Amino acid sequence: MRSPTSLRTRLVLSHLLVALISIGFLALFAASAILNAARNELENNLDTIALTASDSLEEPLKELLYGQGNIYKVQQTFLQLVAAHPELHYTVYNKDGIPILDNLEDVHELQEVETPIEVREALYDESGEGSTTRKDSQGENTLYLTRRIDQGEEVYGVIRVALQLKPALTSVRPLLMVLYLFSFSLIVLSAIFAWFWAKNITRPIQSLTDAATQLAEGDLSTRVDPVGPQELQHLGEVFNDMADRLQGYVEELRAFAANASHELRTPLTIVKLRVEALRSGAINDPPVANRFLGEIEGEVDRLARMVTDLLDLSRMEAGLVSKRRSVLDMNSIVDDVCSAFNIRAVRAGVEIKTNTCDDLPAVFGNEDQLHRVLYNLVDNALRYTPKGGTIEVSLFPINEGEAIRLSVKDTGPGIAPQHIPHIFERFYRAEATRPRFASDNTSSGSGLGLAIAKSIVEFHGGKIGVTSKLGEGSTFYFELPAMQ
Ligand code: ADP
Repeated sequence: MRSPTSLRTRLVLSHLLVALISIGFLALFAASAILNAARNELENNLDTIALTASDSLEEPLKELLYGQGNIYKVQQTFLQLVAAHPELHYTVYNKDGIPILDNLEDVHELQEVETPIEVREALYDESGEGSTTRKDSQGENTLYLTRRIDQGEEVYGVIRVALQLKPALTSVRPLLMVLYLFSFSLIVLSAIFAWFWAKNITRPIQSLTDAATQLAEGDLSTRVDPVGPQELQHLGEVFNDMADRLQGYVEELRAFAANASHELRTPLTIVKLRVEALRSGAINDPPVANRFLGEIEGEVDRLARMVTDLLDLSRMEAGLVSKRRSVLDMNSIVDDVCSAFNIRAVRAGVEIKTNTCDDLPAVFGNEDQLHRVLYNLVDNALRYTPKGGTIEVSLFPINEGEAIRLSVKDTGPGIAPQHIPHIFERFYRAEATRPRFASDNTSSGSGLGLAIAKSIVEFHGGKIGVTSKLGEGSTFYFELPAMQ
């Protein structure tokens, strides 16, 4: 069973409370309006009857007062009045407020009690009428109406007409029943509506909870259908977006783990093969043994480089690299890096040209890290540029001096368009353009150089990219914001 504090229950209860209060008030208001209208009508009718009665009794009472008539005549008239409306309680009072005739009660007993207020009102009030509602001798709510029986200034008595309200108002009972039933149905309907309405809110929340649980249990393909109110739809979309990213990260991580183990296994296999070959006799052939040992050394160096690069990359991504920064002289970084490659370039028959710029905006950054970026780019360029080719390293301001751009242009084989979006990924290789592993130790990269360069440049708030055309060469560049 759901806890009573569940969102759905709370929504339904609060909805019900509002409906109960508002519909309840409206029903009570309508019921009292109906009762008032019925009572007013009753009062008007009684008033007419009292008026007729006072008219009819005027003459007989006048005659009785002046000794021309007798009580019998008054009684006759009284009985005629009673016969016309037997449901009413009539009482006739004389001008001193003493009851003389009553169709339901004993007048002698009535004489014992004090003259009622409505009778005194009719006797002494200018209007000559009185009315009141109180409990009668049977304890029922009763409406009493009085009228003075008079002629000019002369008062002969008072006629009082009374009616018990409860039986008189029975005619409005069906109407009230309809009203109460209608109100009750409205409340039930609003509860049903609230139930479905609440479902509309809680269902997306429930499916979000389920999806989050599935995600936590490792099902990364879980997504939700963004339905329900606007905010929940938005939440659903954000959840899906988060799941997409999470799935992307995890897939990237898996690919990384697979690539890393593959890349590490290759040199290890070569080392193992060469060691086996040495064991099984090659060790006795010094020139062959020497070549094998050279290869083993090369692969171990390659492994060491790869492990160092991997460690650097993960430290960089964890934000653990040195944050020491200073104002940099980019021209001297270009000169340093290019001269470091001089001997290799001469040996490879490749010319390295530099286009530095004297009027560069200042850049704030970590010298060692930016040195490494340029080193990796020139290293790649040199590795892929054939003999007789040229590498051009240029440095210039862009965006009206708000940033600088450093580019390394080579005359190598270029990169096919389908590889370009991926070459900054860890271990990505455009196979066709790269020898699997070269005999020259220096030309065998770790496959992480561009990923490291990208990390560093982004760490400095810059961006890195490449433009390339197959057969014509590539231009790798990075941009860094200038100091403000
Ligand atoms: P690697 O150690 O394999 O060079 P990088 O991350 O430095 O690793 O480069 C990734 C891939 O990008 C390379 O394998 C190569 O396919 C491509 N690449 C990089 N620089 C060049 C270049 N100057 N010319 C052609 N291809 C390049």
